[in-house]
Amino acid sequence: MEKYIVSARKYRPATFKSIVGQHALIRTLKNAVQTGRLAHSYLFCGQRGVGKTTTARIFAKAINCEHLTADGEPCNECESCRAFNEQRSLNIIEMDAASNNSVDEIRSLTDQVLVPPIAGRYRVFIIDEVHMLSQAAFNAFLKTLEEPPSYVIFILATTEKQKILPTILSRCQKYDFQSITPSDIVEQLQYVADSEGYTTEAAGLNVIAQKSDGAMRDALSIFDQVAAASGGNITYQAVIDNLNILDYDYYFRLVDAFLAGSVEQSLLIYKEVRDHGFEGKVFVNGLANHFRELLMAHSPELAPLLEVTSDVEDRYREQSAKCRLPFIYSAMELCNKCDLSYRDATNKQFLVELTLIKICQLSGDAPSPAPQPGIRKIEKSAVPSSAAPQSAAKTAVISPQAPKQQAQPLSQSFTRPSRQNVAPAVSSPSGGMTSGGKKIMAIPSLHAVGGSNTPVVGEPVQAYTATARNAPYSYGNLLDAWRAFVKDNPKEILLINTIKSGDDPVETAGGEYEFVVENEAQRDIFEKKMPMILDYLRDKLNNDRVNLRIKIREAGVREKLWTQKELLTDLIERNPKAKTFIDKYRLRFA
Ligand SMILES: [Zn+2]
Repeated sequence: MEKYIVSARKYRPATFKSIVGQHALIRTLKNAVQTGRLAHSYLFCGQRGVGKTTTARIFAKAINCEHLTADGEPCNECESCRAFNEQRSLNIIEMDAASNNSVDEIRSLTDQVLVPPIAGRYRVFIIDEVHMLSQAAFNAFLKTLEEPPSYVIFILATTEKQKILPTILSRCQKYDFQSITPSDIVEQLQYVADSEGYTTEAAGLNVIAQKSDGAMRDALSIFDQVAAASGGNITYQAVIDNLNILDYDYYFRLVDAFLAGSVEQSLLIYKEVRDHGFEGKVFVNGLANHFRELLMAHSPELAPLLEVTSDVEDRYREQSAKCRLPFIYSAMELCNKCDLSYRDATNKQFLVELTLIKICQLSGDAPSPAPQPGIRKIEKSAVPSSAAPQSAAKTAVISPQAPKQQAQPLSQSFTRPSRQNVAPAVSSPSGGMTSGGKKIMAIPSLHAVGGSNTPVVGEPVQAYTATARNAPYSYGNLLDAWRAFVKDNPKEILLINTIKSGDDPVETAGGEYEFVVENEAQRDIFEKKMPMILDYLRDKLNNDRVNLRIKIREAGVREKLWTQKELLTDLIERNPKAKTFIDKYRLRFA
């Protein structure tokens, strides 16, 4: 029976040309060999599996080759090359510093350095994992590195450049090896597969390339594993089955569910994933990566950053076309947030589910996140129901320039519908939407109209049209309407209840209504549902001014933590005489 050799060894490159990736660096090395301008010591840095040792060996072979080819490759035919290929060369000495890191071992190496080459020009010492040398060994080595005999060349290799003493770094010519790109890895895997007579699927090889993280050696050992398990039929399915990798099909389905706003569907897909034994973190990372690919598939300029094979590429483009960019950005952000909090979460499954729910909410067809949380209810008393005659102007809006001090009844701020009045408000920087029909317009500075003495400056306030419905209602009516909503929308409530205790809205001292939630996450989800709840309540109560706030429980405490300046401003606002007093005595806070 033929002896089995792992692909990483069997297909180890024997020439510069067959090294995968690292093109610029190889060119420089070849050039050095051809021109004979060789340094005494080289340092090859880079992550594992990117070809440092392989390159060092080929470089060493080329240095001693008697008949270099025209393009700087070792001939593999001369005595020196053959001796090296048959591992009997006395001129190329390899040492693994990971297992030979004592002072004694370094001493024996430095002793060898003193022996000149028997044949050939140079003795090349390759020291792998050089950062593993002990401090004492480093020091013993330093002397030799400083003044090596003319026939000696050191090639040091390391995965951890930062651990190398500066005294050593400064004496070496440094080469940084890059991770190998997925497409280079796929190409090499295809070459090996063809040589072995395996059948392959591009998608399968691509998954291996992704999984190997830029290391050719890892890619080849995964490749061997799958080839052995699948009898040389390296399909996409064989790869994901063998490596226990999440099928990207889940993610395509999941994003479809997000786009449909289907919380149920997305939670069910996640359950499927869990049932297959995948950890939440793996799942979330995969999802984050899926959104990344969707982003890259969104525009032709970003196409080079797509890390998928061409057959899946079309699928990404197709799905990406259905996604708006802000949706992709926010989803990426949410995935990242979930990933960051994953370790600390007590209930990890809940965290992932919450993330999925939030992503579902993103896909809503609202053109921009509605400024619901800050919306304050306009005091009922400020607008007597008679002040909004149904026959009046269709689209009158409250002038954003209404001076604060003249706390006029709202009805007086209404203006006749004219382009001049409507247009500036529509295009105002306050982010209002077109005020057609019952649409909402955010206008700052309106809070002064209300009776509350704790205005929150800068918060958007709802404006409404003169045709707004305005039937009077009580807190009791509101509660009834809310409970009817609960009854009519069991699905929505199920969602809200999982994040909130499901309490009724409460009436505040200022005559406003609010829901109290425990944290920002709850608020965020609740907020997304608010437009729908308000629509319902407004219809039920026949009043377009019905409004509800969402308050985080701690917020009440925080509100009281005013700065001294705020306290002073508040004092003056409530008691103008205080200002005279303060000015007169030039009082200042210390
Ligand atoms: Zn040769």
